[in-house]
Amino acid sequence: MIIILLGPPGSGKGTQAEIICKKYGLHQVSTGDILRDKMKRDTPDGKKFREMMGTGDLFPDDIINDLVKERIKELFKEDGDYKLLFDGYPRTVAQADFLYKTLKEINQQIDCVLVFDIEDKHIVDRVSARRIDKKTGKVYNLIFNPPKDDEEVDLYQRVDDTEEVIKTRLKVYHEQTAPLIDYYSKLNLVKDVDSDDTLEVVKQNISKILDNIKK
Ligand code: AMP
Repeated sequence: MIIILLGPPGSGKGTQAEIICKKYGLHQVSTGDILRDKMKRDTPDGKKFREMMGTGDLFPDDIINDLVKERIKELFKEDGDYKLLFDGYPRTVAQADFLYKTLKEINQQIDCVLVFDIEDKHIVDRVSARRIDKKTGKVYNLIFNPPKDDEEVDLYQRVDDTEEVIKTRLKVYHEQTAPLIDYYSKLNLVKDVDSDDTLEVVKQNISKILDNIKK
């Protein structure tokens, strides 16, 4: 099964991605996570990526496409199969074209594009309350998904989760990523998910969609 999660920043893609991957045995390919991992390293790429992240703008397509192709290859080596969930990729039409071509080369195709739907006005509150545990990388939301009382966490906020940067990220989403809804609708791949609901309800709605995809 190959699926794509498409939606604005803070629509809950990352949280649901983890749940879906566990349930359906998929590998999560999150370009944001790949970039954050590279940023931590003391390499020329790490330095370059640190400077680019935090503005809210997109990284160049060729950098992202190369990282994704490399990741798909690595996962195939590990698994011998293509069970992939793309989270935060593709984000532009050029990336979607590249993904289509890359999958075609390996005789694979996208099964479903889940489009996370939520109003902009609810996003700023959600994203500003997002926190990540330094040790485990687990993502929490101080309002919707706080750590449990007995959980020991050391939380930090992403550099691009501030109110100002979120506004830029939303603008970028509407200008460059939202056109992909139309792109994938034409291919009959889109399934809408109302993501302005509790984690549990969104999870159930997604399961209803994916349980019908037999792969
Ligand atoms: P995310 O964690 O998916 O919200 O990504 C965080 C930031 O990484 C984005 O605001 C972009 O600057 C960059 N990024 C992640 N994925 C992509 C992508 N597919 N194309 C371009 N830039 C990306």
